[in-house]
Amino acid sequence: MYKGFLVDDDIGDQTYTKLLSFKTSPGLSLTLKEPSQLTEIAAEIFGASPDIVALDYRLDENFSACPAGQYKAGPLAQQLRDLAAASPQQDFPIILISSEEKIQHDYKPDATSHDLFDNIYLKENVSKNTTQYRRELIGLIEGYQTLKKHWVQTSTVDKLCHILNLSQDEDYAVDFEELLVAVEDSKAVHVLARVLMQDVLRRPGILLSWDDIRAKLGVAFDSLDQEKLKQRFEEAKYQGAFYNAWERWWRHKFDEITNTIFNTSPTGLPGDERVAALNQQLNLSLTPAQSRWSTKNPTQELFAFPCAVCRHPTELRHSLAAYDPRAPKFAERKRICWDCIRKDRNEQPNMRVRIASSDLLLVGKIKNHTVGQ
Ligand SMILES: [Zn+2]
Repeated sequence: MYKGFLVDDDIGDQTYTKLLSFKTSPGLSLTLKEPSQLTEIAAEIFGASPDIVALDYRLDENFSACPAGQYKAGPLAQQLRDLAAASPQQDFPIILISSEEKIQHDYKPDATSHDLFDNIYLKENVSKNTTQYRRELIGLIEGYQTLKKHWVQTSTVDKLCHILNLSQDEDYAVDFEELLVAVEDSKAVHVLARVLMQDVLRRPGILLSWDDIRAKLGVAFDSLDQEKLKQRFEEAKYQGAFYNAWERWWRHKFDEITNTIFNTSPTGLPGDERVAALNQQLNLSLTPAQSRWSTKNPTQELFAFPCAVCRHPTELRHSLAAYDPRAPKFAERKRICWDCIRKDRNEQPNMRVRIASSDLLLVGKIKNHTVGQ
């Protein structure tokens, strides 16, 4: 069973340690720990060699019970990260648990370059998404273990192939200078974990999420038979570090499979033609995606990616670029569908996706619905 700590100044409240601990294999047991003097508690936690540590954002609210706990989660995480940098084999994931919604935006992996946390969880969501969050915590723990296992490798490409569980003869799939340099420069396990999570797992490019695949196949967001369609792509499934936290597929393997189905790149065909070919060849009843903007032949658009806000399959000509300054060259750029822009969905708190300044000129026309029917 994996073990870890939840540091919280509300020491009477066992809600979250209970929700996130579980016995079913592999199991996780979180122990509640109250804040004490900063370097002391950091040394104590580190000395216990936990598999994971969760920190409540506000460790400074319960002054009478914990007079030494006069800091927020950031400084403690920084102390733990510093200790781990000197002992890579003792590194572990750190997550932030908070009741404040704005934290999720402030600490969003791509909103700050100094993020200390592997993931952020809102307290109110922990009880709603318990099963998913437990799976993600195990994914983080085991992902770190994979990184530590292959930490010392002769070449960067070898290291990356081992960590991502990719055979050496497919190393072209990760052979991007920008990625190799980032891996080479990662002098601590948690830094490498961040590079992989931010640039490989959480961005379409080298790997794809199901939202990406659904869009590239032109299948409606809520179509029937998606589980059966997934089976056709089983051999493309990603099985490397963090695979059990986020379900992903290899892009190069997806391309190979779609080439045998369509004899060409699917995104060059109208959406309804793709879906007709899939239904015929795989004996499925998939529904084609519909453009959220054009009303004339809405199923015939060249759907290529999920909108960064609503996640529906979206076409290039009815979308704007999102501001995404940290996107590596090997990743696909995020885009927002015109429907989301018209309805201000990208402005909702927790969903804030900025429109790239180069595309701002069109916003007025989109809002007035006077463009590109
Ligand atoms: Zn949208």
